[in-house]
Amino acid sequence: MEEITDILLEKIKDAELVLVGIGEEFQESMPKMEEDADFLVLLKRMEKEEEDAWMYPYLRKTYMDMHCGDKTGKAYNILENLLDGKNYFVVSTRTDDYIYKTKILKERIVTPCGGYQFCRCGGGCNKQLYPADRQLPGRVYDYCMEKEAAQKLKPPICPVCGQKLAFNLAGEPGYIEEGYLPQWNQYMKWLQGTVNKRLCVLELGVGMKYPTVIRWPFEKVVFFNQKSNIFRVHSKLYQLAEEIRDRGYKVEKKPIDFLINGFV
Ligand SMILES: [Zn+2]
Repeated sequence: MEEITDILLEKIKDAELVLVGIGEEFQESMPKMEEDADFLVLLKRMEKEEEDAWMYPYLRKTYMDMHCGDKTGKAYNILENLLDGKNYFVVSTRTDDYIYKTKILKERIVTPCGGYQFCRCGGGCNKQLYPADRQLPGRVYDYCMEKEAAQKLKPPICPVCGQKLAFNLAGEPGYIEEGYLPQWNQYMKWLQGTVNKRLCVLELGVGMKYPTVIRWPFEKVVFFNQKSNIFRVHSKLYQLAEEIRDRGYKVEKKPIDFLINGFV
């Protein structure tokens, strides 16, 4: 029997366009920050002073970066190779921003759930996005570690009203979706260009957290495009609707493991 990875390679090679969806399962397994002994100490230190409460998301960002290691990098590397030379678009609901460190072209990525690259006014006084201070997560970490050189930190402030800035993350009150709309429009335009073309759709760990962003629209695209295929990779939610089953391949695996183990 032909390996699923061989079929995928074949379909991508044959496709004129490749559409990739990256979802919540596309991440290395990591314990909760609150269960990590070192970070628990840091959190306790941070909680000592109420005025330091704003640091929590910065600490979380540092924690995620420390746990996004070799496997994530390797998996993205394989994805880069799969997409190399193809006309592709990647929709990702991940908010870890890791994809922006890869060779995948920024103009071919949309991350509609936001991330840690931009902040917004925590008070919601305006809809402006402000580039986040990239050094701050590391400095917050040092501060909570009580490193001697670490100085008392102040939260970034909205230049309009003076309230604290917050990361622009979907699911949190005040999320500004305008931030991703220009890229979303690019994606929509690209999608229109897939009509009647040979399209390969690859879903990597897309579950039911935001089904209206990737999962359901992708199914619809595949349903209407007779020249399309879909590969749905997920450890649990790999099932395919009956209407698209004849052009679909389900892979009961975690997406990072699938990539790393399947394409070495
Ligand atoms: Zn403001």
